[in-house]
Amino acid sequence: MIALKRGARTPRFVPDYMASSLDDIDFALLKKHGIHYVAFDADSTLVNFRGKTMMRVTKQFLRSKRHLFKKWCIASNRITNDLQPLANSIEAKVVRATLFTRKPSKRFFERVYKELNSKPAETAMIGDKLIADMWGAKRAGMTTIWVGGLGNDNPLDRIFRTRQVERKLMSAYRPVENIKKLKP
Ligand SMILES: [Mg+2]
Repeated sequence: MIALKRGARTPRFVPDYMASSLDDIDFALLKKHGIHYVAFDADSTLVNFRGKTMMRVTKQFLRSKRHLFKKWCIASNRITNDLQPLANSIEAKVVRATLFTRKPSKRFFERVYKELNSKPAETAMIGDKLIADMWGAKRAGMTTIWVGGLGNDNPLDRIFRTRQVERKLMSAYRPVENIKKLKP
C-alpha cells in the first residue's frame, strides 16, 4: 500500500492510499491512523463483476483483520439482493444502492455511516473506481483506498475504457511505474 500526498487542491478522486490488491492493504496502519470502520466496494474489489464468492485466501486474509475494526460493511451499487452471503462470510453488514441512492451520491455514503454508526473521519472506503468509490467517499469525508480491480470488468466500463481513463487520470499523481505495478 502506498500513501499519496494530498494537498488542499488535490482533486477528490485522488485516493489517500493505493494498493495493488486487497492483501496489499495495511489494515493495521489504517487503524493506527484512527480508522475504526471500513466500507468495501463489492464488484471488482471483493469479487469479480457480479461475483458471489470471494477467493478463499482473500476471505481468510480479511477475516484475520476483522478484529482490528469495530464494524465493516459492503457498500455496493449492485441492485440485486445477493450480497448477504458474501457479507456474512467476512462478518460485514451490507449497504446496497437503491434507484436514487447510489455511489457516488452523498446520500449513499450517509447510509453507510448510519449502518456502521460511524463518523466520516474514522471510516475508510476501499474500492476500485475513482469516481464512484474514491471521489464519492472523499466528498463524504472518508479516508480512501484505491485497489487494483479484479479480473472481469463491468461491460459498460469495458466499452468506456474506464480503467484506461482512470490510469491516465492518476498518472499525474504517481510515477508511471507505480501505476503499472498497481495494474499489471
Ligand atoms: Mg467496483
